[in-house]
Amino acid sequence: MQLIGQPHQLACPQCAAPMSHLSLAGRDGRTVPVDHCTPCRLVWFDRFESVQLAGLGWIALLRELQQGLGDPLPPPRTARLACPLCRVALKPVHNRTRFGRFPALECPRCQGHLHSHAGVLAERGLVRPLLPVERRTLQEDEQRRLCCLNCGAPADGQGEACAYCRSPFVMLDLPRLAQALRLRPGRDETKSPTPAPRGRPLAWPCRGCGAALDPSRHAGCPQCGHAVLAPSLLDVTPLLDQVETELRAEIASRTPPAQRPPRRRVRDWRDTGLARLLHRLPPEREDVAALGWQFGLGLLLWLAWRWFF
Ligand SMILES: [Zn+2]
Ligand SMILES: [Zn+2]
Ligand SMILES: [Zn+2]
Ligand SMILES: [Zn+2]
Repeated sequence: MQLIGQPHQLACPQCAAPMSHLSLAGRDGRTVPVDHCTPCRLVWFDRFESVQLAGLGWIALLRELQQGLGDPLPPPRTARLACPLCRVALKPVHNRTRFGRFPALECPRCQGHLHSHAGVLAERGLVRPLLPVERRTLQEDEQRRLCCLNCGAPADGQGEACAYCRSPFVMLDLPRLAQALRLRPGRDETKSPTPAPRGRPLAWPCRGCGAALDPSRHAGCPQCGHAVLAPSLLDVTPLLDQVETELRAEIASRTPPAQRPPRRRVRDWRDTGLARLLHRLPPEREDVAALGWQFGLGLLLWLAWRWFF
């Protein structure tokens, strides 16, 4: 097992540097361990763990993937990468996604998976192909410089795949992403082919006119008709902020209020030494205690009588 420094800190299979270890919110209250190498843009999941992420887990993972997006391109992929846990060679697999098969690397021994950024999102159906007409909208109307969502290389060419990393050009599927981010524990609504929008409407600034629109409900701006497109992970920051606030408020509302300290009982005769003595006596000896109490009272009266008379 290849661990570095802190417990469960894995070495990146590509560059051997320590990967960032994340404990992400999973369904059923579990935490899902995920490791990320920022320079190589590689994500390691233990067996089947990506399917276990809840909304807050996805939000934290996407914020992690946003790290280093403006950095230099990741190094070219080495021909053979080894499992960061077992050290056996990872084998290429093609995960079935909504729009075809997407490559990943799998460990034949522990079934862990190594994904590219686009691969993590494609596996859960959170990206879709970027169509030529949408690329024209982004380039001509929005004057955006397109970059490959997977590796960050310039994507201004006309091909269907990135010239640098060979990943197909994809962009975020905002309705499905919003659905995954709002996933509460115990649900798997991302499997629904047409997830119904729910929760408060999201607010997203239209890139055509600036009006707020809900990208989980509108493919185009209701005001100006401009297409709603998110070709970069940085485009989803307003969604992450809003849904995270929503989920945390819901969790806080479900948490019972802090327990009030118990009220102190006013002291009375039950707190006297005599009461404690009576309490300790077994029932059959209570009459003995009563006799003692009557004797003490009689003695007190006799002393008072002697004092005054
Ligand atoms: Zn690396
Ligand atoms: Zn392994
Ligand atoms: Zn690329
Ligand atoms: Zn608009």
